[in-house]
Amino acid sequence: MDCLFCQIARKEVPAEIIHEDEFCVAFNDINPAAPVHFLVIPKKHIVSVADITAEDEAVLGHMLKTIAILANDKGLNERGYRVVSNIGEDGQQTIPHLHFHVIGGRSMTWPPG
Ligand code: AMP
Ligand code: ZN
Repeated sequence: MDCLFCQIARKEVPAEIIHEDEFCVAFNDINPAAPVHFLVIPKKHIVSVADITAEDEAVLGHMLKTIAILANDKGLNERGYRVVSNIGEDGQQTIPHLHFHVIGGRSMTWPPG
């Protein structure tokens, strides 16, 4: 698949990978919005949350559990953090491969822009 995040998952494009397993890869965002900002993607090419099918449910649950473990490893549990997935044009999604942003290490504002 000619997709940047598929290429990162296949190690064809370099990234600061912080976790990899059978189902997902996590790597630091190239343009961090906070002291901690990493992305968690499925190895399977899924465009966005809107494209998740029943057969993806186990992978999605695994990704959320992985997010919790990695965030804890980064020391984010005490003060909290944010998990975001942008979808489509209004959601300002720029890479059409499902990803969860995990952002922390500073106090967030709400609502987002
Ligand atoms: P979104 O706008 O929600 O689709 O998020 C895409 C994210 O991918 C942005 O935060 C970008 O900074 C990040 N990004 C784009 N290219 C790379 C890359 N090569 N390595 C790591 N992060 C990237
Ligand atoms: Zn992809």
